[in-house]
Amino acid sequence: MQDKTKLIWKGKYPLKVKIFCWMALQGRLLTKVYKSKWRQSESTMCALCQTELETVEHLLLKCVVVAPGWVWLSAASGIHFRCNTLEELWEDWAKSYTSKDRSCSNRVSQLTTPAALWAIWLTRNSCVFKGQRFYVENLCDLILQFIQSRGTTLAGAGSVRLHRGVLHIGG
Ligand SMILES: [Zn+2]
Repeated sequence: MQDKTKLIWKGKYPLKVKIFCWMALQGRLLTKVYKSKWRQSESTMCALCQTELETVEHLLLKCVVVAPGWVWLSAASGIHFRCNTLEELWEDWAKSYTSKDRSCSNRVSQLTTPAALWAIWLTRNSCVFKGQRFYVENLCDLILQFIQSRGTTLAGAGSVRLHRGVLHIGG
């Protein structure tokens, strides 16, 4: 894991996203469970689903509110994301990063994992701090914006976008 986290710093995306990914992989994001270590009174329940403990892995991968975003991303990018643990997910990212493959699809692989994790965190924070409701559409748009801002597009995103209604679980 140590070597894979070192690779974070070589990624071609903003420093704040690198720091965020590093914190996430160390289990040090300020989730409700993490905060409860020194703020006993605070609820440890997930801000999005309100039914499970808000650990880093729950929030970023397993939460029932977030999971459809990963399903959408898989369909849009053609990449199978292993969402059982952050370590597995990051292992696959590291493979795409160290691969000699210079194809567009590999470039997409290098961007989508950090883009998705970062977008989930931003969307969750909008819910917690701004009282916004969580819509998978907003999450998908943020992921697309991030990837497009790095000069890459998801080939399947347009067609998947048409079917986003299926993934709609907000509200
Ligand atoms: Zn949840």
